[in-house]
Amino acid sequence: MDAHDSLLELIGNTPLVRLRTPDAGRGATVYAKLEYLSAGGSVKDRIGLRMIEEAEKSGELRPGGTVVEATSGNTGAGLAMVAAAKGYRAIVVLPDKSSAEKIATLRAYGAEVVVRPGGLAQHDPEHVVNVAKRIAEETPGGWFSGQYDNPANPAAHYLTTGPEIWRQTAGRVTHLVSCVGTGGTISGTGRFLKEASGGTVRVIGADPTASVYSGGDGRPYFVEAAGRFRHPETVEDVWPDSFHQDVVDEILPVADRDALLTIRRLAREEGLLVGGSSGTAVAAALRVAAGLGPEELVVVMLPDSGRQYLSKYFNDEWMLRNGFLDGDPGGPRVGDAV
Ligand code: PMP
Repeated sequence: MDAHDSLLELIGNTPLVRLRTPDAGRGATVYAKLEYLSAGGSVKDRIGLRMIEEAEKSGELRPGGTVVEATSGNTGAGLAMVAAAKGYRAIVVLPDKSSAEKIATLRAYGAEVVVRPGGLAQHDPEHVVNVAKRIAEETPGGWFSGQYDNPANPAAHYLTTGPEIWRQTAGRVTHLVSCVGTGGTISGTGRFLKEASGGTVRVIGADPTASVYSGGDGRPYFVEAAGRFRHPETVEDVWPDSFHQDVVDEILPVADRDALLTIRRLAREEGLLVGGSSGTAVAAALRVAAGLGPEELVVVMLPDSGRQYLSKYFNDEWMLRNGFLDGDPGGPRVGDAV
């Protein structure tokens, strides 16, 4: 039989597809890694599985236990899916900028959802991470998975995403472009590719313009789940342990507008329906590729599907209201007769 025993076997092993946008024709070839084709629909399935399995091994998570996490959504979905498949309870704390689709997905998996204001200072007791830690402590059998500091997060990518890309490109990859949220994807994947290539692969972060990772002032921005916001009361930025700065060669800022117009084009011109951070990453990857030769090969991570953002980035009213469609929207609008 050609069948699987468990859904958990369908996490990761995502395909690579060449981008065909006109800009991608200049310079190096760009291949996109389609993480939305993982079982739970995002790059975060990988860490949901690995964090839970490491906690089972260490005894921090026992049968009947409760998984608790603070997340902008995808880690929650990955954890909630694995928790459902393995019989754990899940509680997910989300910032209020998370899309309605993400919240509904978590509830569909049976997770309990707690929505708290986003954008609070890290030391604020109501910051989503502090709320999640408190819930884990107060819940019998509770375990806080802690994606920002859990070594299983970058390890998941070192052990799966990196080797997949190396194998899929037959070792020809020369550049990796990825957004940075917790930093797990870029750190684990980038470290593996650097080691496998003898240090020649260049690792480039793609970051929302205002995010502190690329030297921004930390003002709020619209792209979800990527970059890092800074509250005015923040005294010192604490970098997550999941982000290994030594692996990353460069971080490029990308404006929300570029990211969002990029995903609208990808959907129309290539049939790739992906989320906002994929736009941040592709806009950066196309910039990188334009400065390279045809013998070089750029791989860009596309973390999730556009279906989670239909009411925002793919909704013309939302785009107009937020000033992203005041110029040339880059082709026909969604909903235009063709
Ligand atoms: N984009 C999306 C849509 C995500 O959910 C995440 C994970 N928070 C990222 C980018 C960033 O990935 P990482 O946390 O591994 O840096």
